[in-house]
Order: sequence, then C-alpha cells, then structure tokens
Amino acid sequence: AKRLEGKVALITGGASGIGESTARLFARHGAKVVIADVQSELGHSVAEKIQSESGQPVSYVQCDVSKDSDVENAVNTAVSMHGKLDIMFNNAGITGNYDPSISSVEYEDFKKVIDVNLYGGLIGAKHAARVMIPEKKGCILFTSSFASVCYGGIPHAYTASKHAIVGITKNLAVELGKHGIRVNCISPGGIPTPLAAKTMGDVDLKTVQEAFMGISNLKGVPVDANDVAEAALYLGSEESKFVSGLNMIVDGGFCLT
Ligand code: NAD
Repeated sequence: AKRLEGKVALITGGASGIGESTARLFARHGAKVVIADVQSELGHSVAEKIQSESGQPVSYVQCDVSKDSDVENAVNTAVSMHGKLDIMFNNAGITGNYDPSISSVEYEDFKKVIDVNLYGGLIGAKHAARVMIPEKKGCILFTSSFASVCYGGIPHAYTASKHAIVGITKNLAVELGKHGIRVNCISPGGIPTPLAAKTMGDVDLKTVQEAFMGISNLKGVPVDANDVAEAALYLGSEESKFVSGLNMIVDGGFCLT
C-alpha cells in the first residue's frame, strides 16, 4: 500500500545519496516531491527520472540550505506548486575538511560545515514551521549521523554539527509539538553514497559498501541509501503519528546506544 498518498515532501540534498533514495521511495509511496539542492543539473535530471518512474510530480528547486532566502524560496515553491507542505526533510550535509585530527581544525572549514549541516537544518525547520503551524500538523526530519552517538573517526566540525542536530530535534519536538508537528532525526551509520565515496578518496560505491559492511554488527548484510530512506518513510508517514523527538539510529547495530 502507498503510505504517503497525497503528501507533499521537500527534501534538501535530494539530488544525491540518501536524499535521492528518499525522494524515490516517497514518490513511489504517492508523495509529491520537491528536491532542493545546490547541484542544479543533477537535481533536474534526478527529479525528471523519479517523476517518470513513479508517475508522481517531482521537481527541483535550486537551494543552498545555508542561505535563509534560498530555503524560504524552496518552502514557498513547494507550497505554491502543491498547496501545502507535509514533510520537510532537512538532509543536505557536507563533511568539510576530512581530517579527524584536532590539528586540522580551522575556523573557515568549521564555519562552513556548521552553516550547512546545522544552520541549514535549523532554517529548514523555521520555514517549514511557518507553513505547518497554521495547518496544525506536519513532520520535520533531519539527517544526523552515527557520529551523534558514538565515535566514528569523523572530523570535529561534522561531529559537532550532528550532535547539535539531535538537540535541535528535541527542542523543536517540544516547541512544535504544541502545534501537532512531529520532529525527528535519523542517524545513519556508514552509507555508500557519493559523499562517502569522495571522503574515501573517490572510490566506487561498491568499494564503499564493502568497507561499510565492516562497521556494522549485522554481518554480511549489505547497506545502501535506501535503508535510510525506509526510516524516513516510517517517520514521514502516519504509522509514526505518536513518535516525536526521536534520534533513530540506522547503523546495523554498530553504536548500541
Ligand atoms: P551526498 O553527497 O550523496 O548527498 C548530499 C547532497 O546534499 C548532495 O546532493 C549535495 O549537493 C547536497 N548539498 C550539499 N551542500 C548543500 C547545500 N549547502 N545546500 C543544498 N544542498 C546541499 O551525501 P549523503 O551521504 O547522501 O548525505 C546526506 C546526509 O546524510 C548528510 O547530512 C550527511 O551528513 C548524512 N550522513 C551520511 C552518511 C554516509 O555515510 N553517507 C552517514 C551519516 C550521515
């Protein structure tokens, strides 16, 4: 059965990886999807492809999530196209300088990662809340990381941004819960995506997948971006109507928090 029939979803970072898989799964479940990303050519082609596969309206809007006016425009675009916004998935993220040692910490890199991963998510929630509060319903999701709950050898700026998203999720679950809006985040483990492939030195996705099967306690179970999309589907659907403030960890039992 289709679990998002009639729903409108805006997905940041939807041109690639986890966002793309979620856009595809949401459309397959009957959602109208707007992909917001900085990769315009890729975003347009991914939207077109998912639209033709699913028969659902899927569009692309250019949006740098670290810019308030871009995020405002993305939310307004979704609402003007489809009349409402049910699911805001704040998923766009960057790793920044991929050196996990303390000696590599530099202000410009730190600021960039925080601007995209943390401030970007926060203003995504701000503009979504603006249109969801009058409707007295809605669902806001964030992509955090297993780096929010356990050590993954991940750079400090990234780890800081992902920890902070969990705090924001809890704040907003209380604040927006008063208006019937649910707020949750997903913490993926190592997921084979272009981002991960890049940080591993531009290797292919199969190599990333094999490496990431090693940071899991589900031995021999292959992981891909759709495993995270399935969590987003649950949290975006009515099946999770009493779930809010959750950090859902999708890491093959690695962190065991
Ligand atoms: P990805 O690079 O495949 O996709 C991320 C997308 O975000 C890209 O399309 C990129 O263009 C977009 N993006 C980057 N900066 C942006 C900005 N300023 N505004 C709008 N869009 C922007 O990577 P992914 O692995 O699918 O990452 C998605 C999310 O998952 C990120 O938040 C990432 O931190 C998180 N995550 C990934 C992993 C993993 O192992 N891949 C693990 C834990 C968490």
